[in-house]
Amino acid sequence: MESTENNVKSLNFIEAIIEEDLKQKKHEGKLHFRFPPEPNGFLHIGHAKSICLNFGLAEEYGGLCNLRFDDTNPTKEETKYVESIKEDIQWLGFQWNDKPYFASDYFDQLYAWAVQLIQEGKAYVDEQSQEEISKQRGVPTRPGLESPYRNRSVEENLALFEKMKVGEIPDGAMVLRAKINMASPNMHMRDPILYRVLHAEHHRTGKKWNIYPMYDFAHGQSDYIEGITHSLCTLEFEIHRPLYDWFLDQIADGPKPRQIEFARLNLNYTVMSKRKLLELVNKNLVSGWDDPRMPTISGLRRRGYTPESIRNFADRIGIAKRDNVIDFGLLEFSVREHLNEIAPRVFGVLDPVKLVITNYPEGKVEEIELINNPERPEDGSRKVPFSKEIFIERNDFMEDPPKKFFRLAPGREVRLKGAYIVECTDFKKDEHGNITEIYCTYDPETRSGSNSEKKVKGTLHWVSEAHAVDAEVRLYDRLFLEEDPAGHEDYKELLNPDSLKIVQHCKLEPSLKEARVGDKFQFQRLGYFCVDPDSTPEYPVFNRTVPLRDSWAKK
Ligand code: ATP
Ligand code: MG
Repeated sequence: MESTENNVKSLNFIEAIIEEDLKQKKHEGKLHFRFPPEPNGFLHIGHAKSICLNFGLAEEYGGLCNLRFDDTNPTKEETKYVESIKEDIQWLGFQWNDKPYFASDYFDQLYAWAVQLIQEGKAYVDEQSQEEISKQRGVPTRPGLESPYRNRSVEENLALFEKMKVGEIPDGAMVLRAKINMASPNMHMRDPILYRVLHAEHHRTGKKWNIYPMYDFAHGQSDYIEGITHSLCTLEFEIHRPLYDWFLDQIADGPKPRQIEFARLNLNYTVMSKRKLLELVNKNLVSGWDDPRMPTISGLRRRGYTPESIRNFADRIGIAKRDNVIDFGLLEFSVREHLNEIAPRVFGVLDPVKLVITNYPEGKVEEIELINNPERPEDGSRKVPFSKEIFIERNDFMEDPPKKFFRLAPGREVRLKGAYIVECTDFKKDEHGNITEIYCTYDPETRSGSNSEKKVKGTLHWVSEAHAVDAEVRLYDRLFLEEDPAGHEDYKELLNPDSLKIVQHCKLEPSLKEARVGDKFQFQRLGYFCVDPDSTPEYPVFNRTVPLRDSWAKK
């Protein structure tokens, strides 16, 4: 957040807590945050909010921020997710403290703490099925039932936990539970599971373990081990806080992290749970995690979003304690704003129709100098070839236009941007009634000559036929048809069948031959585009990031 001398900075509620903690010299004035993803999928824009918050606070107050993978669920986690998460965080412009940390690095310590709890009579091995255990948990308004195994001796518990650990117990046959309070109104305190048997290979610890800690038994302790001072998480973890505190009360003697909950980011017209995004990928409903329609960071990157635009978006939505839904248009506004600043302007015709200037000399080519970016004069200019035969956008011509149509029509004049004013004299159609060629005359004095100041109502972009680069353009629409697809029984039924439109053989100005994957442009009058990794030197592929104006804005 920026502050200027006469603009008093307004703090969000977490910054207010941090400034108060600093004033009171809590944690000896140290600040240590973390971003704790589970490596079970690619990051999405909701994670970006959490990344910007945690790494952003560390930057703002001169603290540290760890990247820690909470990898307690070996069946869902993979190294490729670890790598993608690292890439996304660095792309956003953040760098973690020291090295990436992993909850799995603490498996020995967590195991030792579990043994300690057993020895102190605070944990027991339960042999009931998952179903039985959850049935006994009951409902918040009535106490649950105690397990028949709750009062085993310490020795028996230690022996059984050892058997679980060495692999003598099959999956699902036993769990280790904390002995807390089966009557607590907080369901998480009703003897939660600490460890389960799982004969699964872990992406980092391999076959070493046959038991794995539950997320709840790992997360708070991992924060504690790393000396995290402020453990920021989304609101659904508020109800877990008493349990995290209980664990730390049993085992910790040093300073404990302070957990603060904030509202998660919800965006309309998309889904944001990793489980659902994974389903879209696995069922080939999208082309992959980085499909430009996905709300993933990698999808947004491929779509043409910049790190700055995502960070600005995170700033704009702010940090609050109440859940709300943010309009997708705000994300698009943020990228449009940044691309307007940085993207060079170019000409591209998506639906070309040929225009012949009948009185322009055959074979003549003029190099028209055009400014690259009016927002940044320092970006200079480029030369665009102009000739007798050019392409214009099909919908910039009408055979029989209404009065308010200010583009080209028989007998009407338009300016070809940067070049001449032309007047339509005739046109040609094929047997289906489609316009195949448009004929115009030009006035040679309207570029830099005596008539250059002449005003016409319409200005069109154009591309010289002989010099055009042939390209594929991918146009995107929202992935879902309704605002809240996740609230629907089967969100997949709400997928927008027209979310991707591929346009072949678009005609682009020749400077785009040099464009590299990831380069961003404003195609004048059409929107912001970037070069897709599917491009080849022979046939470039462009994604439209956003149209120029918010076509979704309420009219
Ligand atoms: P999802 O619910 O989308 O599957 P998750 O919460 O299971 O995601 P984690 O890998 O556990 O994913 O998330 C890492 C961090 O990102 C957590 O601290 C979590 O609170 C935060 N986070 C996840 N989703 C959002 C969101 N929509 N808005 C803000 N923060 C989020
Ligand atoms: Mg989670």
